[in-house]
Amino acid sequence: MNRVIVAAVVALSATIGGIAQTPFPTRFSAALAERAEVQEALAYIDRNFDRHVAEWIRITEIPSPSGQEAQRAAYVGGELEKLGLVPQVDGIGNLVARRPGTGGGPTLVYAAHLDTVFPLGTDLTVRRQPDGTLHAPGVFDNTASVTNMLQAARALHAAGIRTRGDVIFIGTAQEEIGLKGMYYWLERNKGVADMLIALDAALGPVNYGALGIYWSRMTFTAAGAHTNNSRGRPNPARAAAQCITGIYTVPLPAPDAPVPAIYNVGGLMTAGDVVNAIPAEVTFSVDLRTVDPQLLASLDAAILEKCESAARAHQVDFEREWIQRSEAGGRPEDLADRRRHPLVQTAVDVLRHLGVTLPPGREAIATGSTDSNAGVVQGIPSIAVGRSRGGDQHTLQEWSDIESAQIGAKQIVLLTAALAELAD
Ligand SMILES: [Zn+2]
Repeated sequence: MNRVIVAAVVALSATIGGIAQTPFPTRFSAALAERAEVQEALAYIDRNFDRHVAEWIRITEIPSPSGQEAQRAAYVGGELEKLGLVPQVDGIGNLVARRPGTGGGPTLVYAAHLDTVFPLGTDLTVRRQPDGTLHAPGVFDNTASVTNMLQAARALHAAGIRTRGDVIFIGTAQEEIGLKGMYYWLERNKGVADMLIALDAALGPVNYGALGIYWSRMTFTAAGAHTNNSRGRPNPARAAAQCITGIYTVPLPAPDAPVPAIYNVGGLMTAGDVVNAIPAEVTFSVDLRTVDPQLLASLDAAILEKCESAARAHQVDFEREWIQRSEAGGRPEDLADRRRHPLVQTAVDVLRHLGVTLPPGREAIATGSTDSNAGVVQGIPSIAVGRSRGGDQHTLQEWSDIESAQIGAKQIVLLTAALAELAD
């Protein structure tokens, strides 16, 4: 009896295991990882990890606010040049270097953004703690990826790895202010990328979708007036207040809905300069996000309507200005084909091979807010993968675990061997 139950349970779990293991096509195999030149490249990363970390600290301390990435680009370009590549900086400030393949394989593009959200003058000194972490603004997002990409390029070179497809390394500019460098490159290189991999996240699930992000600036204006003459005069502050209150009545899907949405109002606000006058102009920002393009459009329209009706009610002028508009990739069911592209499962399998634990059923998720969004919305097979473990990005407390960056770099070697196809 017991034996029968045990046998049944084993059979059942084997079936479930079989289904859960590889429901999607992959280009990764343990045999590929075992090939001598791949092993050599992975060993290079192990052997040179002290230098990897030293360079990580060095790059983190090069200031690189969005639009001012030139110094970082020059450093990365100089290092790639030592590998025989011919890096170039394009018109927006992307650093681009092509590693030619032997021919006949797909072109694989890596994008690691060079910019940070920290203005010039921010103290970028990296502090290394005894618990195996580095602390500094930008150390995690995205300097860890930039360094991993460089180190993986060196490992491929040192091990003499040849691929059939070209590999293009891009240190992108202005990612943090609307993926501008990535859009710029894709616009001028149509049809070049067969697959796009953004290196920009914590190690964890592979992202193959795109979170739509709408950033608006709402501006209410009127003539203004001294307080003594203000009774009954149009007041942009009252209109703005009514609009903000109204926006927060716009219903959202439940937080645990399959496709959630969120907005945040007033991250930036401006108003008058003095106490004793109606302000002539009041502005505030709206940050609206969801992966569902229809929901994004309808929520945006509802928010806009709240502002327009508030402006009418208070007889002030109103204008909406786009700060950033990053389109949504689609709901998970719309992206079913994307999930089946081997790019996604290959990345999942590579992470598993490197010992990264992924949440069951959520190994790959249909969202993302990185350079890969630009590829997703243009129909290019695109994913974002992680760099290391860490947190508090975009704050002065940003930190990263050191050891896990080895996984981040090795992942790039394995993805390259699997997706750009090893030449014989
Ligand atoms: Zn980032």
